[in-house]
Amino acid sequence: MDLQAQLEELKTKTQETLKTLNGNHGKELQDLRVAILGKKGSLTELLKGLKDLSNELRPVVGKQVNEVRDLLTKAFEEQAKIVEAAKIQAQLEAESIDVTLPGRQIALGHRHVLTQTSEEIEDIFLGMGFQIVDGFEVEKDYYNFERMNLPKDHPARDMQDTFYITDDILLRTHTSPVQARTLDQHDFSKGPLKMISPGRVFRRDTDDATHSHQFHQIEGLVVGENISMGDLKGTLEMIIKKMFGEDRSIRLRPSYFPFTEPSVEVDVSCFKCGGKGCNVCKKTGWIEILGAGMVHPRVLEMSGVDSDIYSGFAFGLGQERIAMLRYGINDIRGFYQGDCRFSEQFK
Ligand SMILES: [Zn+2]
Repeated sequence: MDLQAQLEELKTKTQETLKTLNGNHGKELQDLRVAILGKKGSLTELLKGLKDLSNELRPVVGKQVNEVRDLLTKAFEEQAKIVEAAKIQAQLEAESIDVTLPGRQIALGHRHVLTQTSEEIEDIFLGMGFQIVDGFEVEKDYYNFERMNLPKDHPARDMQDTFYITDDILLRTHTSPVQARTLDQHDFSKGPLKMISPGRVFRRDTDDATHSHQFHQIEGLVVGENISMGDLKGTLEMIIKKMFGEDRSIRLRPSYFPFTEPSVEVDVSCFKCGGKGCNVCKKTGWIEILGAGMVHPRVLEMSGVDSDIYSGFAFGLGQERIAMLRYGINDIRGFYQGDCRFSEQFK
């Protein structure tokens, strides 16, 4: 076969092979290119035959060789582009993101209804110039009982039986010890003491729908010169209106606590029926909301406060009771069971 025919055959065969590659074989394309156009490739081999041609034929065939080389070079470049494009396309498909898929829902937590209630009440007191004081949940008998005018053999201790760590150390039954400790430290030259103490307290109660062996209280104490029952009533009325609505009214009923004298139970006019009588207020039109009273002089004296100069009032309310009334919750145990179906109702 003469050189021209070989050249023609190389051209045709290469073009056909390129077609079969069809953009899918990067490595094969590279190998083929080296085999044809490389330094030791078929076309270079054919070039070597030029020197044997006649002087007339050599330039003609030489030109043909160049043409074939240009043609094939271009064909290889085109194939390379197709291979590259196919590679990019495949990569895009593999990494594609379906923007129509719905996003993953991240469940956000929220504060527990008791925490919300506590913070709301704390805000009201802060606005009235009270300080918020934290204290120990494990307390000495002395601060929990004796300083509250409840000596060891006092029968009223039965109302607040608790869990004992030792004979003298117990789980506090109210947040009153915090008040005693704060009163001990108070400097009356800087003004009256106005404080609240929110926190967890414990009683040895049998758990039922309205009692739990642990619950949360907010107790308040105001001590200063000329503090009267009128201050107590005015303060509580204001707080209760902020919690239950401006058109609520309160009434005080005589009661007994060892640490206050006189002592009162405070009722709020029913926010459901407005006083006509319903199931929430047990047909009375009034709901018992908290206990309060004028601080017993002996309690002041035990803190080293002169009860001839200073007087004060104290009150205590249960956070659970407030939350139960406001949200119509009828079982106290719901607060502690960690059931999301309960908690999520109070977002
Ligand atoms: Zn009612």
